Amino acid sequence: MAKSYLAEARRKKVAPKKERVRPVIERLAELHADAKIALRFANPLELLVSVMLSAQTTDVNVNRVTEQLFRKYRRPEDYLAVPQQELERDIFATGFYRQKTKSLRGTMQRILEVYGGEVPEAFDDLLTLPGVARKTANVVSAERGNPQGIVVDTHVRRLSQRLAFTRQEDPVKIERDLVRLVPREDWRRFPHLLIWHGRRVCIARRPLCEECPLAAGLCPSSRV
Ligand code: SF4
Repeated sequence: MAKSYLAEARRKKVAPKKERVRPVIERLAELHADAKIALRFANPLELLVSVMLSAQTTDVNVNRVTEQLFRKYRRPEDYLAVPQQELERDIFATGFYRQKTKSLRGTMQRILEVYGGEVPEAFDDLLTLPGVARKTANVVSAERGNPQGIVVDTHVRRLSQRLAFTRQEDPVKIERDLVRLVPREDWRRFPHLLIWHGRRVCIARRPLCEECPLAAGLCPSSRV
């Protein structure tokens, strides 16, 4: 079970979350104007593969691997044309390479058989691809301009708890709270803002509250 940050949100009294969410988004958007997905991709297939490979590893690591990978594997067929061990070797550095290879090949097979060789647009169709769970489908849909929910990763979970936007621990329940709270037009950028704030300022072990624009009146977990 990941560490919980719910207790920290009892430090300070702040306005109800519905009143804070917009100013939080605005201040984070000013601070992290460059906040966007860190994965590098040039088309929907590369986006899908990058997100699938990013499970349990860093985006930097995935980018390092996909720089070579996407030169060799350009179409869904290419992932099926090589022996399984070759694809395993090519994605080895992203970890969990056996499972990821199985998921990639299963996904490519289905894309070819059911979706005419194109990554499906619909969220529910994405969920039918082997190894594609809600988080992956959320990221892919959002990056294609059609967010269906809010991506919850470790940073989004921690910051949502510290900001008292949720009292939940489970990512699915956290997402349910966030989609009720965050205006729909912000569903795509909201997780990027939290992720970048979590990497640069609201660090897990040592949040830099003295540098944080949310410390004054917007964050109940503030240490200043
Ligand atoms: S860094 Fe900002 S968001 Fe994180 S706990 Fe401190 S004040 Fe809150």
